[in-house]
Amino acid sequence: MPPVRPNSRRDFLKAASLGGLAFGAASVPALGATTRESAANSAQRLAKNVIFMVSDGMGMGTLSAAVDYLKLVHQRESHWLRMYREFPVVRSLCETHSATGLVTDSAAAASCWGIGERVQNGSLNVTADGRKPVTLLQRMKAVRKLTGLVTTATATHATPAGLVTNVSKREDQREVAFQYLERGVDVVLGGGATYFGESLVSAYKKVGYAHVTNRAQLLAHRGAGPLLGLFSKNYIPMEVDRLNRKELAAVTPSLAEMTQVALASLQGGSEGFFLMVEGGRIDHACHANDPIGAILDQIAFDDAIATVLKFIATNPDTLLIVTTDHGTGGLQVNGVGSEDFDSKLPSYNETDRTFLRLTQFNRSLEQVKLEAKDFKKPKEWQDLLVAATGLNFKAADLAKVIGMKTLTEAIPKYSGIGFTSMNHTGELVEFSAIGPGSALFTPFMRNDQVHAHLLRATGLA
Ligand SMILES: [Zn+2]
Repeated sequence: MPPVRPNSRRDFLKAASLGGLAFGAASVPALGATTRESAANSAQRLAKNVIFMVSDGMGMGTLSAAVDYLKLVHQRESHWLRMYREFPVVRSLCETHSATGLVTDSAAAASCWGIGERVQNGSLNVTADGRKPVTLLQRMKAVRKLTGLVTTATATHATPAGLVTNVSKREDQREVAFQYLERGVDVVLGGGATYFGESLVSAYKKVGYAHVTNRAQLLAHRGAGPLLGLFSKNYIPMEVDRLNRKELAAVTPSLAEMTQVALASLQGGSEGFFLMVEGGRIDHACHANDPIGAILDQIAFDDAIATVLKFIATNPDTLLIVTTDHGTGGLQVNGVGSEDFDSKLPSYNETDRTFLRLTQFNRSLEQVKLEAKDFKKPKEWQDLLVAATGLNFKAADLAKVIGMKTLTEAIPKYSGIGFTSMNHTGELVEFSAIGPGSALFTPFMRNDQVHAHLLRATGLA
């Protein structure tokens, strides 16, 4: 295939539409032969495949709450923790700062993984002095690894975009969608059809992408070619809503199902693959201070870990990383129960019973907000809160509920789940790795050190 160096967007799309552009070959900088040779020399220790899993906005409290929920409600262990028991795991505490300061956004956090540098919040792999370094997925493409992005947020959201693109403002998701095509990401699965639009989807199709838009089409998909799956206009619904509303579950795949199809599509490549899997909505639930939203999306992420561990059982040349980009909201399971025997100390003996009330919750706060958009009277808010949570509120507590803010504030006392804010947090986060190359990761890391280790693990540095 002749090298295609389009001078403009128009040239690129024209070349694509004429079929003159082989899939995934454009704009990828060539790496020197030495890099490839050194990779070959140490092949034994190198990861052929990398699966990079991100639970977006998952502080330790959210992980704990999901683990507790699985234990108390489903009487089982989380797959994340099972991985710690069954595999020689490398764990790290990771510092999540950005060039802006102690608290990062998802764009700056993913840019650390994308280029190994801290950038300003809101920027995707564009440095303060305007440089646009080659990104991790471009490096992987350059050595003929297949690449994939799977998320429950928009496919063009900051975390997947931060591994691939150079875009000054993360809001420019249309530009992100274009760069995915230009840079030849092989599998793109998520929400965000809005940012692709008909013209961009047809440009993807013209260079050979299969295009699916619902769960049935995704599950029926076969074949190793490039795949674009967009399952909603914006975000994929939260797991609590998917589980409680048949019409959503019918059309929307789970994160584990998307992961399964992505793995099937990517595993045929002779040079392996790089796949990112993001639980994109844990962050959104925590921003909304929505405990069941966060916990059930974290469990959906955990189910995707199970899918990946099954793949790894037959593909041991795979490096798996499971981590997050930052905390959000400071979710914690708080002790409940004040009278302890004859002591004045809190007993916390109501904690489990209070926590189990979460099983009555039947929709996300995002869904509540949607249903309440024309509400005028406090009574409407109060009735909806009771319907959504199944909680038996005291009259005095219910009387305080007059809108979304007060509705949200009524929940912690009755669930034991509290939040510190509706913002991202600056906490240290969990980072775990198994498989070839995992020994490179150290017990404490800055987020901008992960990129170089990933390149080393795959023989690219
Ligand atoms: Zn966020």
